[in-house]
Amino acid sequence: MVSRETGTPEATGAATGARGETIAAVATPPGRGAIAIVRISGNSAAAIGAALIGRRDLLPARRAVRAWARAADGALLDDGLLLYFPAPHSFTGEEVVEFHGHGGPAAMRGVLERVLELGARLARPGEFTERAFLNGKLDLAQAEAIADLIEAETTAAARAAARGLSGEFSRAVAAMSASLTELRVWVEAAIDFPEEGIDFVEAGDVAERLAALAEELQRWQIAGRQGLLLREGVRVAIVGAPNVGKSSLLNALVGEERAIVSEWPGTTRDLVRERVEVEGMPVWLLDTAGLRPSTDRVEQIGVERARAARADAEIVLWVRAPDVADEAVAAEILSSLQEGQRLIEVWNKADRFPPPPGEERLWIAAQTGQGIAQLKAAIAEAAGRTPGEAVWLARKRHLLALAEAEEAARQASTWGKAGAWELMAEELRAADAALGTIVGRTDPETLLAEIFSRFCIGK
Ligand code: GDP
Repeated sequence: MVSRETGTPEATGAATGARGETIAAVATPPGRGAIAIVRISGNSAAAIGAALIGRRDLLPARRAVRAWARAADGALLDDGLLLYFPAPHSFTGEEVVEFHGHGGPAAMRGVLERVLELGARLARPGEFTERAFLNGKLDLAQAEAIADLIEAETTAAARAAARGLSGEFSRAVAAMSASLTELRVWVEAAIDFPEEGIDFVEAGDVAERLAALAEELQRWQIAGRQGLLLREGVRVAIVGAPNVGKSSLLNALVGEERAIVSEWPGTTRDLVRERVEVEGMPVWLLDTAGLRPSTDRVEQIGVERARAARADAEIVLWVRAPDVADEAVAAEILSSLQEGQRLIEVWNKADRFPPPPGEERLWIAAQTGQGIAQLKAAIAEAAGRTPGEAVWLARKRHLLALAEAEEAARQASTWGKAGAWELMAEELRAADAALGTIVGRTDPETLLAEIFSRFCIGK
């Protein structure tokens, strides 16, 4: 453990409560790399940074200074660059210093230990971003977008996160919120000055604006649901009679041999789940055991699991082949389709059974790769991806808040039509409060711990 030096002039920043404390962490991932960064934020950051490199005068603002970081006894720790961002023009809005050193774990540990000795304390996960939020540098939706950008595994997800970070969604929320405030002002006036009488032209205008607002809230929810898929992945259940080539298709999509391909029907007893990227979207492929009624206990369990997985999937990919009779299975598949589920029907073994000219159905040959690109396009389309446009990477809590705001807006409209202004005002307030939770304006405390604890240290 690191013992803190007491009495060091630099070590006094911690006195002014949690937010006055100076925090530090290695901001780059553990392990070896060309560069690693120790980040320091808080009132004493500049003093600690200067002390780290043994500099007496002030650090220049936003200019890289090449220097040696030294231990308390003057021993050399690492040769690197020191950067100083004076408050409030920094990521956290506080005094921030970064030391960019060589990316060796021991070297960085040495620098961090020295920084802690000089009075900083180790940052909690997400604490830098949390401070940025508390200092008004970001709103909550943007802070979440940072976490999403770090977590993003596909290009499309990264782009959507970047859009969130840019504040596009936050600005839309702010505009809707402003619109609600204007409506509230009007309704409050109607309540306070009833003798003026309600101007019916204005009342009509209010109803129209409320309807437009409810629609906009709905549009964001639709876009958000797509974003949720982008974050969590689209589930595609591969179904069909035994021996049509489901496992072969899974392999073709995954690009390596995973599921067992066999000549015998009913061998895919367990559920095989593979994550692939289809046109930039994360996709979970579920190879389901052959939907064949069976007396074999193990196989029955497989069939049951297949049914459950299929019910949950966003897309059902029905594989058929000319050499397999599948009438019974077809009826079963079609009758168990869930509401909102998309069905893609695909014919396999095109290499052995060439499709007739002018064929409109989707044909593939899992074994040769023929038609796989078209099938991927069909999957992306069915998943609701709008080509070229990255969607907004929603979280469930955003969708819930938008739905709540929409519901309140519609309710407000109903009260408005009935001339029940007090009740209308109440619903408008509720709608605005729901929107406020998205950006962290309303009731942030309950959300903060939950959201920032999921970050990595140094972020
Ligand atoms: P599953 O039972 O639906 O998972 O089917 P499999 O993937 O195990 O394949 C069943 C049989 O169909 C195997 O003998 C495969 O070799 C054959 N098969 C699968 N895909 C193709 C294809 O594209 N062309 C041809 N000619 N045969 C295929």
